[in-house]
Amino acid sequence: MKFLSTRGRAPQASFADVLLAGLAPDGGLYLPTAWPQLGAAEIAAFRGARYQDVAFAILSRFTEGSFSADELRADIEAAYADFDAKDIAPLVETAKDEYLLELFHGPTLAFKDIALQILGRLFARALAKRGGRATVVAATSGDTGSAAIAALGGLPNIQVFVMHPKGRVSDVQRLQMTTSPHANVHNIALEGTFDDAQSIVKDLFADTAFAQEVSLTAVNSINFARIAAQAVYYFTATAALGQPATFVVPTGNFGDIFAGEAASRMGLDVARLVIATNSNDIMARALNDGVYASGAAQPTISPSMDIQVASNFERALFEASGRDADWTAAAMSDFARDRKLVLPRAVIEALRDRYSAFAANDDETRAAIADTHARTGRIIDPHTGVALAAARKMGHGHAPVVILSTAHPAKFPDAVAQAIGSQPPVPARLSGLKNRTEKMEILPKELSLIRSFISSRLRG
Ligand SMILES: *Cc1c(COP(=O)(O)O)cnc(C)c1O
Repeated sequence: MKFLSTRGRAPQASFADVLLAGLAPDGGLYLPTAWPQLGAAEIAAFRGARYQDVAFAILSRFTEGSFSADELRADIEAAYADFDAKDIAPLVETAKDEYLLELFHGPTLAFKDIALQILGRLFARALAKRGGRATVVAATSGDTGSAAIAALGGLPNIQVFVMHPKGRVSDVQRLQMTTSPHANVHNIALEGTFDDAQSIVKDLFADTAFAQEVSLTAVNSINFARIAAQAVYYFTATAALGQPATFVVPTGNFGDIFAGEAASRMGLDVARLVIATNSNDIMARALNDGVYASGAAQPTISPSMDIQVASNFERALFEASGRDADWTAAAMSDFARDRKLVLPRAVIEALRDRYSAFAANDDETRAAIADTHARTGRIIDPHTGVALAAARKMGHGHAPVVILSTAHPAKFPDAVAQAIGSQPPVPARLSGLKNRTEKMEILPKELSLIRSFISSRLRG
């Protein structure tokens, strides 16, 4: 399996190359040269199969040529051994034809673990084969950081730099990152927003001399390995229901929902993909008005989605344009310059064939959390709450509806308490967090300072 860049100016690459590089050298995002195809019979047979076996069936299509079947199987088994749900991503019914797909049963209690637990293992394996070291730089809106640290902390030959927007993640999210005991983990609290952090990561990559010198790599959802691993639960959920579903996805960087597009392009019958955003509604506006325009990110009670530039949208634009790399490259450079992109009619129509979008504000999110609690006794987190509120706005006629439940409510105790009057119980994985020592460096949003910080830590 070979991969190409959405901007068409990078050589084709293997899965291992894509995994270790993150971003393509032309600034584009990697996608397979052709989507692997799964037949209807194979997909139907996923019903009742172990999650790990479905993951192998899907991921092996991409990793072929880079990892052997035994290597992939071993890494998948190890990745999910520490999940606290036997099914890994259980589907629970909350109302007639309404389901939550629970993706938060991993070590850091958010869906990012599902992909990063595999990615970390494949990463270490690829690096061991190839020799040398890697410098991972991750921008996080809160959950990628801790999941990356849980997956990569303590591994040899890898240094991990995680930048979170200072004061804009929940206390639990911050503590999960800053109390890591591992010497290869370096936290930066950036005086800025997630978009500032993400744009610094892109600028570090654009500095090719620096990127090569330190073997820079990304584990954000710009890394295609994450998309591949996240496509798996669209298959398992559809197989469990035995019919195509409408998936409602709390969306920030557009990675999780693009994994749904990936599943559908691989042959899965998906009724609809619904983008749910909080009041940072750039994606809802792009789809509904045809103009992709970013403003300043506003803090909300669903901080992991406080994002104005959705990196993975580039992948969807590339596909919606009929894989037109020249158009995609021009569109992304216009957007970088103007912070605004008017989508051509054919592109917006192709997107609307697949996606719908609804935004929910904090009041609507709290109401969704409170209503679910009153009806079912279940406590959901604010990101899941955004998706539930979006699902209600969509109205009837879309059954069955599967809402991706992306985080455990205990990661956002204050937001949950605002909705239901009390904090969720603290699970074992989070107990004692408040008593550990925090380590982080507070830095202004200045590329040169971040670069020197990384260099000085690498020198040891
Ligand atoms: C990262 C995250 C999201 C958004 O996912 P994207 O892939 O960035 O769209 C939603 N909810 C939670 C809890 C997250 O951590």
